[in-house]
Amino acid sequence: MDLIIRNASLPDGRTQIDIGINGARIVAVEPALAATASQEIDAQCNLVTPPFVDAHFHMDAALSYGLPRVNASGTLLEGIALWGELKPTLTQHAVLERALQYCDWAVARGLLAIRSHVDVCDPRLLAVEALVEVKRRVAPYLDLQLVAFPQDGLLRSPGAFDNLKRAIALGVDVVGGIPHFERTMADGAKSIRLLCEFAAQKGLRVDMHCDESDDPMSRHIETLAAETHRLGLQGRVAGSHLTSMHSMNNDYVSKLLPLIREAGVAVIANPLVNITLQGRADTYPKRRGMTRVPEMLAAGIDVAFGHDCVMDPWYGFGSGDMLEVAHMALHVAQMTGVDASRACFTAITQTPARILGLEGYGVEPGCHADLVWLDARDPVEAIRLRAARLAVIRRGQVVSRQPAAQATLALPGRPASVNFKLCR
Ligand SMILES: [Zn+2]
Repeated sequence: MDLIIRNASLPDGRTQIDIGINGARIVAVEPALAATASQEIDAQCNLVTPPFVDAHFHMDAALSYGLPRVNASGTLLEGIALWGELKPTLTQHAVLERALQYCDWAVARGLLAIRSHVDVCDPRLLAVEALVEVKRRVAPYLDLQLVAFPQDGLLRSPGAFDNLKRAIALGVDVVGGIPHFERTMADGAKSIRLLCEFAAQKGLRVDMHCDESDDPMSRHIETLAAETHRLGLQGRVAGSHLTSMHSMNNDYVSKLLPLIREAGVAVIANPLVNITLQGRADTYPKRRGMTRVPEMLAAGIDVAFGHDCVMDPWYGFGSGDMLEVAHMALHVAQMTGVDASRACFTAITQTPARILGLEGYGVEPGCHADLVWLDARDPVEAIRLRAARLAVIRRGQVVSRQPAAQATLALPGRPASVNFKLCR
């Protein structure tokens, strides 16, 4: 074999597992593998996981923080206005360079698949062209899936639907939308119908920004679920954000959850950005804004977490670390039980991989040899420590290494040579 990782703990709880790799594929996953390999890694009983997957990102805006100014109010709407100021000054080169830099960060963090929305409301489509080129260039290292996103509204922004169709023709993968930003509730519903019909006709997936609002009357998710059901798009549609569900009354939600489940619509929450942008008009009590993740999981709905933004008009923080995303989700949703904490790890690995439709994802024979060796024993500890990514492996090759955090202390009464791992 080309590479064997020995003594791995896996996210499903198996321990002392050896992972054999030939070329770009995993060929064996079993205890005490008898084979030998030209390269071996001793995982030292630490966690080896399939890579992190970000189900919701905006790579065309990433790393543009402060251009041309920062978001003073911190609201979603000022962020959209700020992006509108920045758009006319964008160049294809600048978008491409920032995106490539972010992909470097992502790979180092073990984030090897990203679904990024790309704004199609600029008729020049220069961000689309830049990200299609980024997707081609980073393909050996990272799966970049693009969503045609009419940021200023499909019906509200002149020419947006034509631009969206052109973007799909240029190589964008998924149909996006933003019904809550159309002029009326009726226009929002119409945009969902048009976009879902277009996706059904083209055989494409759908991922809409939906109800990113604290207004409990923002109910476009109901229409998205109904259109998904009507058009037979089950398993191919995601609703991103759904923050208005945080503020809806429980009676209505008790009808809505089974509707989402029946339609097979997946949900993508964005904890870092939801907790930052939502509740801005509240005094106290101040709502958290993130959608109802534990209730959705209990109803059998697929829920993934996205990073959404890193250093852009909406959010000036972040570094491409999906463990930070899961850490915030766990706190915002109070998912502190053991099973709930593990579910937060699943929401940045297996579930988004399924939503993106990634082929060969997992730690089983036949899967791509895409793995991350973490300085943590299990998924919950990985989230707690935002653990170091000791090695990132893509298609059988080690593409990034990071040393384990270590401290050397000589406290009174202790041997001076004690090296120990931080916090473990
Ligand atoms: Zn978004």
